[in-house]
Amino acid sequence: MTGNSPNDEPEDLISVAKLMKILEEEPEPVDDEDATLGTAPLPTITRMPEGIEVQERRLGHAVGQWVLQVRCDCGRRWFELHPVRTADCPRCGALVLVDIEPG
Ligand SMILES: [Zn+2]
Repeated sequence: MTGNSPNDEPEDLISVAKLMKILEEEPEPVDDEDATLGTAPLPTITRMPEGIEVQERRLGHAVGQWVLQVRCDCGRRWFELHPVRTADCPRCGALVLVDIEPG
């Protein structure tokens, strides 16, 4: 019988050393999240996060209407409920052309 002498390195020890060296050079990517999800139980939600306030509000109804403010050259202002091209100025009595300014 040859080998098995104390001076010879056992085969399995060499294999482990090689394996460890390979693992050091090429470490396997470890996904911590998957490991945690697999073993640890999910935390239960016992209360809402702070800073979030939920209010139940009554749902109402409202009516909106665009009103057109008309200003005559004489300085008189009034309002029209419908878009008009011309209007009678209640102060100076002139028939005024309404130029609608954007904005
Ligand atoms: Zn006027």
